Amino acid sequence: MKTKSALASLAILVAFPALADQAEHRHLGPHVHGQGTLDIAIEGNKIEMELVAPGMDIVGFEHVASTDEQKAAVEKAKEKLTDVLNVFKWPAAAKCKTDAANVESRKETHAPGEKDDDDDKPGEPQHSEFHATYTITCAAPENVTGMETVYFSDFSGGQLLNVNVTTAKGQTQAQMTRDKPTLSLAGVM
Ligand SMILES: [Zn+2]
Repeated sequence: MKTKSALASLAILVAFPALADQAEHRHLGPHVHGQGTLDIAIEGNKIEMELVAPGMDIVGFEHVASTDEQKAAVEKAKEKLTDVLNVFKWPAAAKCKTDAANVESRKETHAPGEKDDDDDKPGEPQHSEFHATYTITCAAPENVTGMETVYFSDFSGGQLLNVNVTTAKGQTQAQMTRDKPTLSLAGVM
């Protein structure tokens, strides 16, 4: 896992030096509340997606759910996120369906060598995230021209998704926001 992640980081640094800062930042500091990351890889008729979002954005807290209300909020959020095609809406003409969806909440990951969370003092603020991975197949991938999301209306803490799109033509970055919950794939497909 560590090796794979290190190699991936290295590959990104080599290919996109401008991203080095951003990647470092993401690994070293705590996440920024209001901001999630959505990675999208499109190859042929397959779309792989990975969403990482602060617990604060999704359910409004990041401590371990203790009350029934909090546990229910986490379960409801997981259900919503599992129904990926209702959160991230690809064009109907693309005829997409979900092959796999996995959603979990976890403590924020730390860079290798960083102090482990076990050292956390009681009462110190902690961060947790929702992590979701999806595999989608589209019967008419030529119609995968963009995507719109109801993420921001579903999850009131979310303000911004930093989107990384990988296609046969390369990698591009975009942002989806509360004001602009859409992604155009014009020119990258
Ligand atoms: Zn946090």
